[in-house]
Amino acid sequence: MATLVYDCIAGIAKTIIDNRDFLTDLDREIGDADHGVNMARGFQAVLEKVPQDVPDIGAVLKKTGMTLLSTVGGASGPLYGTAYMEAGKVSMGKETLTPEDLRDMLDAAVKGVEKRGKAVQGEKTMLDALIPALEAYTAKLEAGASLLEMLDAACAAARDGVEYTKTIRATKGRASYLGDRSIGHQDPGATSALLTLEAIRDYCREA
Ligand code: ADP
Ligand code: MG
Repeated sequence: MATLVYDCIAGIAKTIIDNRDFLTDLDREIGDADHGVNMARGFQAVLEKVPQDVPDIGAVLKKTGMTLLSTVGGASGPLYGTAYMEAGKVSMGKETLTPEDLRDMLDAAVKGVEKRGKAVQGEKTMLDALIPALEAYTAKLEAGASLLEMLDAACAAARDGVEYTKTIRATKGRASYLGDRSIGHQDPGATSALLTLEAIRDYCREA
């Protein structure tokens, strides 16, 4: 993974922007119909503000997180902002990443979201995609799998996590106002987290 981190971020931005209406429609069911709009606005700003030629992965992720924090809004802005900034802290100064580095970054991002959102797994949030992805990635890493196997496992686990959000009641965020009526709907934030992981996987496959 010696290529510029900007290209990976641009891949994430593209998938989020391409899925703006899908994410917004999911949020219409159990929220206020703005998740896709919020995220697409944030990643449009990221594409414009984040420097394309900086090789320091941590610096680029920090700038990405700060930009998301100031442009996305809603609950997800501070949460995704924190996720990128925390991943940036543990990769500051690095120009290439090992699979272990990537695990540490995902772990830092998850811990940041947990702390900022005061949420745990099973509350119908982005954590229901991110935590299983981290666990699946780590299991493959420890089993000596290839990077793509680790990322495929992470994406599969995140996809299962998104499916799982359909079966549970929201206890955090706007969707929690619906109580049991939130059951049967897929969580928008878990879905954008899945899209993010798939974009990272696709970037690494092509890099
Ligand atoms: P808002 O709910 O303020 O309109 P968004 O629609 O952009 O913000 O984002 C909603 C998503 O944010 C939810 O689908 C959920 O995944 C995530 N979310 C909300 N609250 C929390 C929290 N406390 N912890 C983790 N994720 C959360
Ligand atoms: Mg919303």
